[in-house]
Formats: sequence, structure tokens, C-alpha cells
Amino acid sequence: MRDDDVRSSCFAALDVLQAKWGPDLPYAALVEGFSFRGRRVPFLNRSYGIYRSAEAQRGPAALSVNSSYKQDRYRDEQTPDGVLYRYQGDDPDNHFNRWLRSAHLLDVPVVYFVGTRPGWYRPIYPTFVERDFPRELRVLLTFGKMRGPYDEREPVHIPDEIERRYVVREVKQRLHQAQFRGAVLPAYRDRCAICRLQEVRLLDAAHIVGDAEGEGDAVVSNGLSLCTIHHRAYDQDLVGVDPDFRVHVSHRLLDEEDGPMLELLKGFHQALIEVPRRPSLRPDRGRLEARFARFAAAA
Ligand SMILES: [Zn+2]
Repeated sequence: MRDDDVRSSCFAALDVLQAKWGPDLPYAALVEGFSFRGRRVPFLNRSYGIYRSAEAQRGPAALSVNSSYKQDRYRDEQTPDGVLYRYQGDDPDNHFNRWLRSAHLLDVPVVYFVGTRPGWYRPIYPTFVERDFPRELRVLLTFGKMRGPYDEREPVHIPDEIERRYVVREVKQRLHQAQFRGAVLPAYRDRCAICRLQEVRLLDAAHIVGDAEGEGDAVVSNGLSLCTIHHRAYDQDLVGVDPDFRVHVSHRLLDEEDGPMLELLKGFHQALIEVPRRPSLRPDRGRLEARFARFAAAA
């Protein structure tokens, strides 16, 4: 038996939470659950990974699966076709794994909650249990699309394998960026390295040497925690950071007339960025140098 109504309510509630918090959600916001026919229904079960609501759901299939930011023995393995998600425990027929199998057999959409840092999750939906490998104690998760007008979006399972792989690649890139951000921001105590703004919803993890240049490692030492304004300015080479952690503002900006927003950028010329306390997490000087050469050429 399918229970699409519960799933629609769950996805709509996640849309609302993401509008409020951005793409990553704090567990404190998730723990309240979502409203369905007058009751609050939890989104996930952090202890067991695989979750179904006995109270709200009439169908037998899981509603969500989740992975901790600590990628231990339950590490999800990414493949070009999707993500291999490990069963709960070693018994393929325990009730958790039966819920997973039902989601596969009924072809119902679930939410895949990925831990990006302690207490934060990125929800990916709709996710489908595409294949079941009981002997390997794993399933293959793939990702669909939400289609339709804003208030009536419907989860769609993509039948075409090539189109599905394309969506899988997009999701994996988003997850990669989310996990990079989840590692970089805490190292900077959730502040912009340049202006010290402390508002997690306005902070990004900027790559020092970007993905396009082939060295876009998702290590903290290749990142800077920057507010959205400073991130954009850094990407446009309007602001640079030299290997001694000093901020340089482009002449293109310094020579312009004053204005309150411009001051936000110009005021940090020659200031030092705030770097993580642990030396191993600080920006790598070699990478800063390579990137700063590009800034100097543009400035
Ligand atoms: Zn800033």
C-alpha cells in the first residue's frame, strides 16, 4: 500500500524549512517534525538511520534514511548510478531493512538526510530505493525531481538511466559542496574570515583553488569561510588574500567613490583574516599564493 499523502506533507514541510534556513537544516528544527492530519510526525530516526512512522503511515515503506556526518562503517559509497546505502545491522530481514525493501518494491519516494556537520542535515528528496542487494546488505539510492507548480509539486522517478545519472551527478556535487561547507565553517567558528560576520545562513565555504582548476580538494585548508558578499568579491578577484593572510582590495574598488556597501569591502584593505586555531586547518600558503597571483594580475 502506498502512502503518498504522508510523503507529500513531509516534502512540503522540508520546502518550508529550507526557505527559512537555507539548504542545510539544524536538527533542532527537524526534531519538531511535520504536521500531518493533526499530529506531529518525526522526519527521521538518528539512531537507526532507516525510519518509518508507525502512527502516520499506513504503508510498509520507509519514509527517510539518514547518514551521520561521521562517515564510519556505515559510509555511503558514491557511484555514477547513485549512492550505496548500507542496511541497518546484518539481518537483511529485520524490520528496518524490510521498510527499505518496501520502498524499492512500491517505488515510493523517501528523504535522504545527509549529515553535513554535527547537528546539521542536508535533505535530498525525492530519493528512490532503486535497487536492492540483500546479500551485500546494501541498496542503491537514486534521485528524482520535484515537478509541477510551486504549491503542487510532485515527486517524479526518472525512468531513463542517462537522465537519472545526470541528476545523480548534480546531487553529488551539491552534497560535496555541502560537506565542504560543513567542514570549513566550524573551523572558522561560523564567522566570515574577513569581516567576522557570524550568521550561518549568510556564510559560504569558498574554494581557494577552485574545482575548475583541477585542485578543488574539499579539504579545510583549501577553503575560506566567507560571507556571501566577500565570497562573491573573492571569486571576482575584487578582494584577494595573500599567503600571509592579509586582505587586499582591488584598485578597481579602491578607486571608486564611497558608499556604505563599498566601505564594507574597502574597509578591510590590509587587514588580516581570522584563521582557524589549529594550524592544519589554516589556509594552505601554496594555494593562497597561486590564487593571489591571479588576483594581482586582475587588480
Ligand atoms: Zn564578510
